[in-house]
Amino acid sequence: MKRIGAHVSAAGGVQNAPLNAAKIGAKAFALFTKNQRQWRAKALTTEQIDQFHQNMEAGGFRAKDVLPHDSYLINLGHPDAAAREKSLDAFIDELQRCRQLGLPYLNFHPGSHLRKIDEEACLDLIAESINRALDVTEGVTAVIENTAGQGSNLGYRFEHLAHLIARVEDKSRIGVCLDTCHTFTAGYDLRSRASYDETMAEFERTVGFNYLCGMHLNDSKPDLGSRVDRHHSIGMGKLGVEPFRWIVNDDRIDEIPMVLETIDANLWAQEIELLYSMIE
Ligand SMILES: [Zn+2]
Ligand SMILES: [Zn+2]
Repeated sequence: MKRIGAHVSAAGGVQNAPLNAAKIGAKAFALFTKNQRQWRAKALTTEQIDQFHQNMEAGGFRAKDVLPHDSYLINLGHPDAAAREKSLDAFIDELQRCRQLGLPYLNFHPGSHLRKIDEEACLDLIAESINRALDVTEGVTAVIENTAGQGSNLGYRFEHLAHLIARVEDKSRIGVCLDTCHTFTAGYDLRSRASYDETMAEFERTVGFNYLCGMHLNDSKPDLGSRVDRHHSIGMGKLGVEPFRWIVNDDRIDEIPMVLETIDANLWAQEIELLYSMIE
């Protein structure tokens, strides 16, 4: 079945996220396990972890219905070694927090070359960082998100995701998350049935649906290929409603968290209802 939800608030503590997700009729959700704009965070307490599990059960969520997102500060491909180490430390901490919560995924953006090194060198640094992080942690899959390619961010081509997967040693702990807005603004069309089929076939050829661990369901404010990352509510942007109808009826995308990161949290309950109503 389809597991559709939203990236909900964890204000007041991670234990509140499943409550916030249940309130909007979500069957999956994303959260930040720490403040996404700060490097340091207090360790999770036993009370928080217990309460998180109680609220997960009350909301009917399984661990694999949750797609935690890491901090925006982390850049695993930072050209500067000291800055990259700092990011790696923070990334390892994020993986450990997921493990403490019993969650199997951590969603992250690959990284940015900051125009100091070329794309391939940066992708190799990212892969090396992922390998080092997986080496010292256990139980959590690193889920690479495709990006819009804004600025010098990598991950805007399916080939970038494939390049990383090829260089990660433990293939059982690497996966990808497709963001519909990022896919579209990176230049992959989804607006007609033919272009949707072509884009998804290219994803299958280049990466493979076997690596797909999650999706971000976002409409897009900017146009195809603009390389600008601006989400919009479902049906209100350049994508429109139809691509989401094809996605929720796509058998290759099943039993993975499908998460709204749309701009108006007041619409999430309606958007989730709309997406479920389109399943044939
Ligand atoms: Zn993201
Ligand atoms: Zn996203």
